[in-house]
Amino acid sequence: MEEAAFIGVARHRLRTDGEGVTTLAAFHGCTLRCRYCLNPQCLRFAQSLPAFTPQTLYEMVRVDNLYFLATGGGVTFGGGEPALHPAFITRFRELCGPEWGLTLESALNVPAENVRQLAPAINHFIIDIKDTCDEIYQRYTGRSNRQALDNLQWLLQEGRANDILVRLPLIPEFNTPADVDRSQEYLQSLGVRHFDRFTYRTDIQK
Ligand code: SF4
Repeated sequence: MEEAAFIGVARHRLRTDGEGVTTLAAFHGCTLRCRYCLNPQCLRFAQSLPAFTPQTLYEMVRVDNLYFLATGGGVTFGGGEPALHPAFITRFRELCGPEWGLTLESALNVPAENVRQLAPAINHFIIDIKDTCDEIYQRYTGRSNRQALDNLQWLLQEGRANDILVRLPLIPEFNTPADVDRSQEYLQSLGVRHFDRFTYRTDIQK
């Protein structure tokens, strides 16, 4: 399999983006252009970034195998947009076996077949839904949220509600607490059970 570019791999993260001790593997590249993107390097040129195949990434991260097994942790795929790499993630699951927890940190704004392909390999989904109002979402990301919401609904229909945490940010200058409430109510009506509400910090973004 071809290599994918990564903006970084970070070991020994404790309960920041998944159960137990996790290693974050952050893919380069994204379908969105969020105004306050936390990882703007994932949108720039991929030159000079580290690149891995599923095999070489697995060989690097398995140094923490005992930590993963002892704490129920594993690998979190973030980015950028990790759901752009379903074949990579599926192959990684084949290599690491069933014991590691694999988490996907995604905006889900990718083709439906990507989500269908990678979902069986993933234990936990952290979904950055931003705002369910399409007008707010488009202003903030440059794209419609239709695809993201369709993909979320598909996961819910597949019975994955307990594996999903939806992140609902208050985005200064783009939405209001009332908008966040509306998003949460709408998502609850679809069957989302777990939410993480927080405020974007705009002082640390470029
Ligand atoms: S989805 Fe995430 S990585 Fe992509 S542009 Fe938005 S904040 Fe940046």
